[in-house]
Amino acid sequence: MLAPIYEFSADDVVVIIGSGAGGGTLANELCQRGLKTILLEAGRHITPAEFVNDDWAAYEMLSWLDKRTASGNWRVARDHPNAPSWHCKLVGGTTVHWSGCTYRLTQAEMQARSLYGDVPGTSLIDWPLSLAELEPYYDQAERKMGVTRTNGLPAMPPNNNFKVMYWGAKRLGLREISTGRHAINTVPYDNRPATIQDGFSVSGDQHGARWSTLNVEIPKALESGRLDLRASCRATGIEHDNNGAAKAVIYVDANGITHRQAAAVVVVAGNCIESPRLLLNSASGRYPDGLANGFGHVGRHYLRHIIQTVWSIFPHPVNMHRGELMGGLIADFSRHDPSRGFAGGYYIELNAMGLPTTAAFLNPGWWGRDFADVIAQYANMAGIFMTGEDMPQPGNRVTLSETETDAFGVPVANLHYDDHLNDLLMRNHGYKTLTAIHQAAGATRSIEAPAYPASHNLGSNRMSAKPEDGVLDRNGEAHEVKNLFIADGSAFASGGACNPTLSIVALAIRQADFIAKRAQS
Ligand SMILES: Cc1cc2nc3c(=O)[nH]c(=O)nc-3n(C[C@H](O)[C@H](O)[C@H](O)COP(=O)(O)OP(=O)(O)OC[C@H]3O[C@@H](n4cnc5c(N)ncnc54)[C@H](O)[C@@H]3O)c2cc1C
Repeated sequence: MLAPIYEFSADDVVVIIGSGAGGGTLANELCQRGLKTILLEAGRHITPAEFVNDDWAAYEMLSWLDKRTASGNWRVARDHPNAPSWHCKLVGGTTVHWSGCTYRLTQAEMQARSLYGDVPGTSLIDWPLSLAELEPYYDQAERKMGVTRTNGLPAMPPNNNFKVMYWGAKRLGLREISTGRHAINTVPYDNRPATIQDGFSVSGDQHGARWSTLNVEIPKALESGRLDLRASCRATGIEHDNNGAAKAVIYVDANGITHRQAAAVVVVAGNCIESPRLLLNSASGRYPDGLANGFGHVGRHYLRHIIQTVWSIFPHPVNMHRGELMGGLIADFSRHDPSRGFAGGYYIELNAMGLPTTAAFLNPGWWGRDFADVIAQYANMAGIFMTGEDMPQPGNRVTLSETETDAFGVPVANLHYDDHLNDLLMRNHGYKTLTAIHQAAGATRSIEAPAYPASHNLGSNRMSAKPEDGVLDRNGEAHEVKNLFIADGSAFASGGACNPTLSIVALAIRQADFIAKRAQS
């Protein structure tokens, strides 16, 4: 029997900050278990009718564009100094913008420190829970998201970009090639239609075939009658009681009015930059370095995956923008193989963007005739990318600016990232493989593009078996602050190689079980 530490009464609520993959899922799961939940979301409640099928306009409508700063030797700090990470600000969070690739971590990845050993300069740890403990929640996540190739749901059909990747990979002798797994319906499922293959999932998905917390979790939570969704409400601080337990959230509504919302449990799910920022900004006499930061881990060990793209030009049209954009997976390099000279593995997936975004991310600063020639051949381009495990380093971190604050008086976040040698070795291996695949398929020219703003943001409030190694315990509750949980990607103990959202959702379902059992005990 778990200790009855929350002492829930009928009026008690769980307050969740952020309605994306972690927060939106947790809200629904708690409501379905009978708990009253308040969901604070900094962004607007946008309806699908407002979405525009234009990836650049959609980026500007959906993204978190509040000012940030960046430092470190990663090229992103130079190319995108005020927007180093790419995530969203609206009801549904980044699940309104994502591409739907849904893969599981492996047991080996969850034991990164044990498997890779002592990689100098890193702060690797093992996850404080096993894959076997997470598997039942992966099953539930795949069912609720309608993941293709699971539960009898058909696979994504191949598009032209996939066919290019497939033939190149086959000629190189690669074996683990498929169209992958997606939380995008290929047949009608859970009252959502099948994809019409229009290639605009990342523009918000007007059609509604792709799972998001905006179109699945939050409507179901609202139907339960237990969710109080407060859009355009920005949390600026978290308060604790005399025993040091979380007890209230301070937030500012759309009219600029500041509120104090009491809570039996506070869950932070603001994505990997905003969550540590909020904890650091909630310092008090008892927690002088920020909430849950007694061992100094809040904001540290930030991970963003080694995501690199190769764009290639072919003699004939590819029209990579047609069909679901990321319907392809090669898993041959996904496992740790010390003979390659670096720790960890990487997956190969498709990449495709509209013309303006391709031009912007191809090589920022590139201009002139050669650039124009490449862009003129957009119809003949194919895109392929790697997502690989980067190494945690204590100095890769989110900190608060000492000089600049935002409109809410909260210090602006700085994101510092230095590439580790392991990251560079993996990146170079990946570039060679991606280029070889396209060349084997007949590419006449291949371009290794630099990383764009980080879309897989992880690890900055990590789970750990011991309080001295991280911020959270195995249930995502702060080691140091009772009743304070984290439900987003910042909780990852290590990054693994695969796209993270399925794991964020599985962890949120598991956390809902834990919070609900505590509340009822
Ligand atoms: C273009 C793109 C494509 C992607 N494709 C994939 C993919 O194919 N597969 C995959 O696994 N992942 C993908 N991702 C990544 C995935 O979307 C994220 O990993 C995931 O959504 C992160 O979930 P989260 O809960 O950590 O945060 P989010 O989903 O970003 O949600 C955080 C929410 O918190 C809100 N918030 C923040 N601070 C506050 C505050 N102070 N007060 C109130 N609200 C606040 C934000 O506005 C936001 O709505 C993609 C990302 C991008 C940008």
